[in-house]
Amino acid sequence: MAGFEILNQSENEITIAIDKTTPAFVNAVRRTAVFDVPVLAIEDVYFTKNSSALYDEIIAHRLGLVPLKTDPKSYNLPEDCTCKGKLCAKCSVKIILKAKGPATVYSGDMKFKDPAIKAVHAQIPIVKLLEGQEIELEAIAILGKGKVHAKWSPCHAWHRGGPEFTFTKEADAKAVLDKIPGDVVRKDGRSIEVKDFGKWTDAYEQMLRGAGVEVKNSETRFILYLESWGQLKPAEILTQAVGILQSKVKEAKI
Ligand SMILES: [Zn+2]
Repeated sequence: MAGFEILNQSENEITIAIDKTTPAFVNAVRRTAVFDVPVLAIEDVYFTKNSSALYDEIIAHRLGLVPLKTDPKSYNLPEDCTCKGKLCAKCSVKIILKAKGPATVYSGDMKFKDPAIKAVHAQIPIVKLLEGQEIELEAIAILGKGKVHAKWSPCHAWHRGGPEFTFTKEADAKAVLDKIPGDVVRKDGRSIEVKDFGKWTDAYEQMLRGAGVEVKNSETRFILYLESWGQLKPAEILTQAVGILQSKVKEAKI
């Protein structure tokens, strides 16, 4: 049974160690987090006015890529909704955007019918309007998955084998270890353990190799890094990913 341990956590990032497992399992968790955890994004845009310099399609594309703060529990995926994909209030959110020039229209100018939803970043420029130019549109945001379109992906995630250090007889790493800050590694004579994977870099490994220390990547202990785009908290993405993976395994049981 794989064990999860949180090594670092901040507003948008989480680093965890997964022990006693295989590269395939860690990659499955990574892929599920990036491609299968649903978030909201704008899917349809209906223009009533657009006298800006940009075509409707360009503005619609920009709106689609604006990350939206999501409460996934409040919405259904349209395909799983009781309305059978007709886009009711349980599976879609209406958005109004109206602006007159001269002005720069930002993501924060969108008005959501559900006040619980907003753009993660209010300062994403959508279009610049000159004197006399105007846009007026209604958009629909729905839950979706990153495997369909990257706009519905909640995060970027990657993993590596946990580094394992072996001091050879010739190793003379004191000078190198002195250069690595104490909050990054625990140094104990001729053994090292990484304390902070957020600050650990390949450069340290190269320095240690140069000083005669063997550095190998573990095949059973992995470090998974996950950076949220802001729609969901990183720990929430991970919890949902593991849940989705578990339900898929149940489906696959014979
Ligand atoms: Zn619905």
